[in-house]
Amino acid sequence: MRPFGYVSAPDLPTALGAVAAGARPLGGGTNLVDLMRDDVERPETLVDVTSLPLAGVDELPGGGLRIGALVRNSHLAADRRVRSHYPVLSQALLSGASGQLRNMATVGGNLLQRTRCPYFRDHAAACNKREPGTGCAALGGLHRGTAVLGTSEHCISAHPSDMAVALVALDAVVEAQSVRGTRRISLAELHRPPGETPHVETDLAADELITAVELPAVPVARTSLYRKVRDRASFAFALVSVAAALEVRDGDVVDVRLALGGVATTPWRANEAERLLLGAPATEESFRRALAAELAPAVARPQNAFKIEMVQRTAVATLSRLATEGGAA
Ligand SMILES: Cc1cc2nc3c(=O)[nH]c(=O)nc-3n(C[C@H](O)[C@H](O)[C@H](O)COP(=O)(O)OP(=O)(O)OC[C@H]3O[C@@H](n4cnc5c(N)ncnc54)[C@H](O)[C@@H]3O)c2cc1C
Repeated sequence: MRPFGYVSAPDLPTALGAVAAGARPLGGGTNLVDLMRDDVERPETLVDVTSLPLAGVDELPGGGLRIGALVRNSHLAADRRVRSHYPVLSQALLSGASGQLRNMATVGGNLLQRTRCPYFRDHAAACNKREPGTGCAALGGLHRGTAVLGTSEHCISAHPSDMAVALVALDAVVEAQSVRGTRRISLAELHRPPGETPHVETDLAADELITAVELPAVPVARTSLYRKVRDRASFAFALVSVAAALEVRDGDVVDVRLALGGVATTPWRANEAERLLLGAPATEESFRRALAAELAPAVARPQNAFKIEMVQRTAVATLSRLATEGGAA
């Protein structure tokens, strides 16, 4: 690991000043420090933000929750309001990493974790995300874990966060602060598809700190599920995942939220599937048709083509379960 400076920020103005001067925020460190050890991330200075008063979960006046950026993943998953009003979020968090990692990982850091594409950490291989302009070794190499939606000829790596998939389904909004002020970014806009600049992963400016995530009141989220398919039961990233919420009245879908993970370069809100499902009969046939339309633009490669059918089946099974039994885990 290269030498680096370290600042511990006692308050927000100090943290924002340090970030404005070029320091990188350090949350739980579970991703950033790993990448520094691998010489992929090379910050000159880290600013430890974990002492800032941003570790609370508060109720919003109009319903919904304001989640501080430093709330640990385990704390958020256990919050009784999250478990009852947004079970999909609690389940997504609990499906990620391990107990020890969730105790360290923060909401802000989880959102900004980097891809798990093996070539991103492999200095012997080309990677446009790590070194712009070098190429993408995954295209002709090992790409079983990569994305089929939102890809470009410059990058096909999958977005890794489970939490972000649940948050995008819930219309979450990120609050970002800098010395220039505060702004709000919808989670759907936070992560950028790779296009021609895979190294630019989010809409966040270098001097901005994520300070909170707001969840609006989403009544349908009380009947919600997160389903993740992976190679082993824990400590594994998603091959595919599904965040779903469903309300059915008189046999028809009256409200639905659907997002897909493991298959896309960003947390993927299934807008087309939702559009087709609203007002349709809550049947397996409707679910299958909606997923087929959502996945029509998918670009499959030899090793990751299986993900298209896998995510379709997982989503149909999850929606069917919500339609017949509700969202209890
Ligand atoms: C073995 C292993 C298995 C894992 N499995 C999963 C899994 O199955 N699913 C899953 O979703 N995740 C998984 N993870 C990833 C884990 O969830 C992330 O490492 C963690 O959420 C990152 O949070 P952190 O607070 O430690 O971030 P850090 O490592 O501290 O930071 C990550 C990035 O965010 C930036 N940052 C941190 N806080 C802020 C802020 N407030 N504002 C602006 N920038 C900020 C940092 O500068 C850095 O760029 C796994 C990790 C490991 C090591």
